[in-house]
Amino acid sequence: MLIVKKFGGSSVANAEKIFNVAKRLGKSYDEGNEIVVVLSAQGDTTDELIAKAKEINSKPSRREMDMLLSTGEQQSVALMSMALEKLGYPAISLNAYQVGMYTTSTYSNARLKNINTDRVQSELERKNIVLITGFQGMNRFDDITTLGRGGSDTTAVALAAALKADRCEIYTDVDGIYTADPRVVKNARKLSEVTYDEMLELASLGARVLHNRSVELAKKYHVELVVRSSLNYEEGTVVKEVCHMEKMLVSGVATDKDVSRISVIGVSDEPGRAFSLFGLLAKHKINVDIILQSVGRSGTKDITFTVARDHLEEALELLEANKERLTIKEIVHDENVAKVSVVGAGMVSNPGVAAKMFEALYDAHINIQMISTSEIKISVLIEEDKAETAMNAIHDKFQLGNVNLRR
Ligand code: ADP
Ligand code: ASP
Ligand code: MG
Repeated sequence: MLIVKKFGGSSVANAEKIFNVAKRLGKSYDEGNEIVVVLSAQGDTTDELIAKAKEINSKPSRREMDMLLSTGEQQSVALMSMALEKLGYPAISLNAYQVGMYTTSTYSNARLKNINTDRVQSELERKNIVLITGFQGMNRFDDITTLGRGGSDTTAVALAAALKADRCEIYTDVDGIYTADPRVVKNARKLSEVTYDEMLELASLGARVLHNRSVELAKKYHVELVVRSSLNYEEGTVVKEVCHMEKMLVSGVATDKDVSRISVIGVSDEPGRAFSLFGLLAKHKINVDIILQSVGRSGTKDITFTVARDHLEEALELLEANKERLTIKEIVHDENVAKVSVVGAGMVSNPGVAAKMFEALYDAHINIQMISTSEIKISVLIEEDKAETAMNAIHDKFQLGNVNLRR
């Protein structure tokens, strides 16, 4: 079998963990498998590199950031190759440039476009365990790019698709995908299966166990994904198109703290205002998430929306600079907010999910600032400090810890 295995930062954080993974890889190799391994930077390396950059320049160019951050992954693959060498296994490490993993040109948030499989195939034919840097790629200028935080999952899935691998295994520091982050919700339950669509929502809404783009690619190229622990041999969670085993009304709860809220107050109540406001933000590549507009009263209206925290400053500067043109009287913002969401394919055909979620929040005395819904998810914006309480309250209300609950 040809297997792509990805190990996250915590799974390769120190020499002991690297050897644990190396032994695991050796075992799979001895069973006769062809193995391609994708690694993340060790432990907190990426955060430490970001901190180092900020010491020098608080707004470094994205190109140079990618140049810096990509070094973390390169350390991991070289060290893993040395560990395998020591254990007597043939291995070779390759970075994105050596493989030929091409991305779009956007630094720090590039998308994989095309992967050249020749080098990897020939290394497999030479019976090597092939170790590849996650998170990085190269663009049409032959510059190093990165795929966004958590992007190594996407490298792994894209490689699995390009190589037509038999499976793609994502090894991490929890036993699989849970009904909520098991570090926040103590009675969160491990799911044996979850659909691509549900996982895509969970990942996009803050469950960082998988990079959302990895799920998108897995769905597109029919890559069956398994998420499991690098520390034990438990079965983990399978992510696939259709799930039969657990037909839950709600499959999980997720929280995203990378959110901030902006309100523009007193905008004149006439056509084209929302267009100019959001057109301006879009022009500067600032993504807007939840939007709420008040009913016009005495000729004016208020518009409230959310943006990612690292876009807040730029968004505020833009709005301030265009205040008059956009007819804004006042701009207010709040960074201490979090988005809590419930996700479940069963919601489409079951009314009352929203009411149940709101009841859970009411019982926990948590005020809802904004609401947004789609066919398979409901999100609310609340005060950041209440996020953990909200997660637990909602999880309990839907009895997600209870195995026997069926749709
Ligand atoms: P890695 O370094 O292996 O990529 P991450 O830290 O990116 O690991 O992702 C794993 C973490 O995701 C877990 O430690 C857990 O705290 C968090 N997490 C959030 N939501 C979930 C969930 N629904 N199921 C499992 N883990 C989750
Ligand atoms: N090292 C990168 C990060 O910390 C990529 C990853 O871990 O997937 O975001
Ligand atoms: Mg990750």
